[in-house]
Amino acid sequence: MKTNKTVLITAGPTREALDPVRYISNHSSGKMGYAIAQEFLRRDYKVILVSGPVQVTIDAHPFLTLIKTESAIDMLNACEQYFSTTDICIFAAAVADYRPAEPASQKIKKKSDTLIIELVKNPDIASCFGKVKTTQQLSIGFALETNDEMEHAKQKMHSKNLDLVVLNSMNDKQATFGFDTNKISILDRSGEVFLFPLKSKKEVAGDIADATEALLPFGV
Ligand code: C5P
Repeated sequence: MKTNKTVLITAGPTREALDPVRYISNHSSGKMGYAIAQEFLRRDYKVILVSGPVQVTIDAHPFLTLIKTESAIDMLNACEQYFSTTDICIFAAAVADYRPAEPASQKIKKKSDTLIIELVKNPDIASCFGKVKTTQQLSIGFALETNDEMEHAKQKMHSKNLDLVVLNSMNDKQATFGFDTNKISILDRSGEVFLFPLKSKKEVAGDIADATEALLPFGV
């Protein structure tokens, strides 16, 4: 084993229950997070993959712990068990910002023409880690913005106490949700921005792993 380091990766969407048969979710496929997990396994890291509901799969591996979750709260609870033993956290999941305040215990009936459902804010998993992480631990977050992307990415870096922000381009049809390719920029805390061309998610995972390893306090 080349490294004794552990990386925790969140991946995929979350599902926030409206009632026993319905939920609020998003189009995240989990492909990027799973590709990152695969890349760190290839580099001999111990990988904890905390995944929302996805179609994509990963082969069993002696260094892999796969934890399947549904809601943002499930995902946070799973992550919290491992935060203290993790050297690197990579937050690639598309966590729902809000959840229904009180999921109905029975299927919601179709009655009135309009239906108002109260939503409450979900916990921010990356911020929770940002508050407790030590100087020996790194965290990497993703940002998907439609406007003022650099400014928002910088704000995210500080509010979530991240070491790197991976900015997903919204301007390329082959990037982001569902595709096997992605186009990213990586922003570091000094404000430097590294631009990458459109690549396979496997290659992008390699770029993210390289940028992360370059920051490790005591090397790999
Ligand atoms: O604030 P925003 O959702 O744009 O931030 C995206 C980054 O924060 C991603 O890395 C995502 O995985 C993480 N995040 C999280 N928990 C949330 C919301 C976002 O870990 N509730």
